[in-house]
Amino acid sequence: MVFFCFLVDTRKMVRSSKPAAGICSRCGGGASVADMETATRFCYVPIYRRTWRAIICTFCGALLKSYYSRRRGDGRR
Ligand SMILES: [Zn+2]
Repeated sequence: MVFFCFLVDTRKMVRSSKPAAGICSRCGGGASVADMETATRFCYVPIYRRTWRAIICTFCGALLKSYYSRRRGDGRR
């Protein structure tokens, strides 16, 4: 059987998270600052990857706020 793979999927992953001030507007749970990674894969091969920061709810996982950093590289120490 020939399997044609035209599948493009985007995966959102939480790489790390830290507790943050604020509550979730949906469930009232605690918020946390998370370093997110979005990986776009074509046929299970990652072709594009982007890291960004977001405020997410630790309880229900809702995305409360996101910050797309437009900086090139991570120059801050
Ligand atoms: Zn929530």
